[in-house]
Amino acid sequence: SISEKPNFPWFGMDIGGTLVKLVYFEPIDLTEEEKLKQGDTLRTIQRYLVRNEAYGETGVRDVDLEIKAVKLGDRLGNLHFIRFPTSSMYKFIDLCVKKNLHLLTFKIYATGGGAFKFEAIITKSLNVKWIKCDELEMLVQGIEFMASLNLDEECFFFKIWTTDSNFSNPFSMSQITNFPLLKANFDLQSKKFSDTYPFILVNIGSGVSILLVNSEKDFRRVSGTSIGGGTFLGLCCLLTGCKTYEEAIDLANKGDNTKVDKLVQDIYGGDYPKFSLTSDVVASSFGLMHIKDKREAATKEDLAKATLLAVLNNVGLLAKESAVSHNCEKVVFVGNFLKANTLSKKLLSHALNYWSNGKIKALFLRHEGYFGAIGSLINFAL
Ligand code: ADP
Repeated sequence: SISEKPNFPWFGMDIGGTLVKLVYFEPIDLTEEEKLKQGDTLRTIQRYLVRNEAYGETGVRDVDLEIKAVKLGDRLGNLHFIRFPTSSMYKFIDLCVKKNLHLLTFKIYATGGGAFKFEAIITKSLNVKWIKCDELEMLVQGIEFMASLNLDEECFFFKIWTTDSNFSNPFSMSQITNFPLLKANFDLQSKKFSDTYPFILVNIGSGVSILLVNSEKDFRRVSGTSIGGGTFLGLCCLLTGCKTYEEAIDLANKGDNTKVDKLVQDIYGGDYPKFSLTSDVVASSFGLMHIKDKREAATKEDLAKATLLAVLNNVGLLAKESAVSHNCEKVVFVGNFLKANTLSKKLLSHALNYWSNGKIKALFLRHEGYFGAIGSLINFAL
């Protein structure tokens, strides 16, 4: 019954190495009695959260990701998705205090490394019961929950019409198909995915974690790498002088990595057919940059593109190896590195398709960076 459930507000929080992800449940089924009881502070905060699209200097609400009328436990509400840089965490706490949030007593389910790092300051500044949750558990739990909502367009992939190795120009032939997450067993070229499980889950955040998911309760981390979204952003800032992720992606979209990378053709003068390496495959990331003329000719855009490819090739390879060694035909990619980054999604799709001869498919999810926070939030319903 309602009285046994914790009081509102309900927040799920994922404090990562780069970004804080906050999911807020806005109840839309409050009884008159509850409305009276909730008081001004909560009402004001609610209004502040759902009526704005930006908070402070760096907070953003991803309005297009909002989900209306979601059932969470026995309550009905809208899910709002908010993010800000982890470096603004102290400002965020100040803002909470300014908005009188410290006058309320409530629970927050928190995950990510920051759930540990910021516990002391948060529990000192706010009157919250801070419940720390394991980030990989929350990630899988969040995905399962979203699958259960069966949203029409949560999951998508790029249709690859060719199994050519042509990495530089397959993209006009790619096409998105949207379908609900539960139907991730949707057919494609082979007209069939056997089952939703098992799948390989690749979380590309600041770093990369790769999980084998056999079921909601049965999953484990099978691989990972420190060369992830943080590496892309950090190296881009160093190499191009850009200052934000958006700028870095923008540069990468306009660049030509063949001005920076050493390709198979640069070494062989053509294909290396014996091991099915075609001329346009990158043999050595940044491999041309020891040559003075090439270095001087490479633009910021080219450098950004090469950085993106270096990270992606590595993640793609680990994803493929993980899928092969665990007999999975589906690889699901999540994490904010893929945010507003269609180029990367297409490159990953193509790389997996190529290296597996069309056997392994790359799947993407619209709420890509938020699954850990969603997984935390739904603890209110469990
Ligand atoms: P974490 O939990 O480690 O913070 P995320 O899944 O939030 O990981 O992904 C962080 C990565 O997402 C960054 O390293 C960067 O590549 C990318 N990214 C996407 N949007 C932004 C942004 N607005 N600011 C910084 N990084 C961003």
